[in-house]
Amino acid sequence: MDKYDVIIAGCGPCGAMAARAAAKAGAKVLALDRRKELGAPVRCGEGIGLHWMDELGLKMNPKAVSAEINGSVLVSPDWKRRVVIRNKETKGFVVDRKVFDKDLAIEAGRCGADISVHSEVYDVIKEGGKIAGVKAIVDGKKHEFHAPVVIAADGGESTIARLAGLNTTATLYDTDFGVEYEMVNVDCVDLIEVYFSNADAPRGYVWIFPKGKDVANVGVGIGGLHAPNAKYYLDKWIKAHPERLGKAKTVAIKGGIIPVGAPMTDEAVGEGIIAAGTAAHQVDPIHGGGICLAMEAGKIAGEVAAKNALAKTCDRAHLLEYAEIYKKVREPKLLKRLKLRKVLEKLSDDDFNAIFHHLDDKDIDNLLKSNFAAVVGKMTSLLITKPGLIKTMSGLL
Ligand SMILES: Cc1cc2nc3c(=O)[nH]c(=O)nc-3n(C[C@H](O)[C@H](O)[C@H](O)COP(=O)(O)OP(=O)(O)OC[C@H]3O[C@@H](n4cnc5c(N)ncnc54)[C@H](O)[C@@H]3O)c2cc1C
Repeated sequence: MDKYDVIIAGCGPCGAMAARAAAKAGAKVLALDRRKELGAPVRCGEGIGLHWMDELGLKMNPKAVSAEINGSVLVSPDWKRRVVIRNKETKGFVVDRKVFDKDLAIEAGRCGADISVHSEVYDVIKEGGKIAGVKAIVDGKKHEFHAPVVIAADGGESTIARLAGLNTTATLYDTDFGVEYEMVNVDCVDLIEVYFSNADAPRGYVWIFPKGKDVANVGVGIGGLHAPNAKYYLDKWIKAHPERLGKAKTVAIKGGIIPVGAPMTDEAVGEGIIAAGTAAHQVDPIHGGGICLAMEAGKIAGEVAAKNALAKTCDRAHLLEYAEIYKKVREPKLLKRLKLRKVLEKLSDDDFNAIFHHLDDKDIDNLLKSNFAAVVGKMTSLLITKPGLIKTMSGLL
């Protein structure tokens, strides 16, 4: 009963995708989650790009969609420039994670995975220097579950990978803190709003993600080294902008941490253990989005874990296939984004305004997509008029 091929600690987007992929590959799978209701409480802006659904071979359940999004509005610190971007990358959804996460688990269950909710994993089982399962409290009772490979998909505050001997430490510098209010009486259209300002949101941004015609997630993310805290910045921003949120009322408060440094690859793999999703820092370093990156990593981890469990080759050397695939499909893009994050975080609001006013909409889209080559000409003409920016922007070279 308690023997599996693959065990997954955490059944968020990453864990559920890992469970689905491993079960589809023919493995006997168990995913454990400490929550009674998957997805709740929500600690997320809930924004998802439509293109991801195709890339991951998924269909969005209409019941999981709070609002369909047809683009984004990027606002300069002085609010004088609003760049509207409507293309295939900015089309997407604001989902209801309570429905979305559970739906992913339902799909994993349909593929044959066992899902155990209200089941907190508190330790790993080690045999002969390898991970051989987990210890969990299921409905208040201690249980041991055995498997030759465990996937740690337990999110940003991951403990399971660390207990298994992987170094998952994220420095304060490479961690963002996010706080968000769900608010009513917010005028919403089919666009997400992103407000840039290193004064209002140091090393981050303020967002308004519509969840309906008058309900939105309004949040801020800031770099871990910035005091006092994200809530302070969000309250200050809302107070300073009565023209946008003067009538808004808060109906929920959410928050959490987001690792925004380099993703773990080789370091995410040990003897009988793989860390994936936000537990392995697989998050976009600029906007902190991690739902679909977690699903992607979960799918890869599930496939690799199942293949090696069935072949009885769950040593680190074989499981490193996960890191090799990740390095091909995602790591270079995230490292390029990290480079851009490290430039953006150094810009003053004057610099941001200059960039917003100098570049056209397409250039700004290219810059934020890390298509640096496409904006070199325009940036050069800006740098001639603003030589102080040269040192900062040279970080992109
Ligand atoms: C304020 C905020 C706003 C965000 N907004 C967005 C956004 O708009 N779009 C986006 O793409 N990303 C956003 N993110 C990031 C996104 O929420 C995460 O990257 C995403 O949820 C990662 O998925 P995951 O499956 O790796 O981890 P999680 O979603 O955190 O899931 C981990 C699961 O593991 C379970 N778990 C943890 N420990 C244990 C244990 N010991 N035993 C059993 N179960 C355990 C948890 O209960 C949870 O269900 C935001 C994050 C924050 C904090």
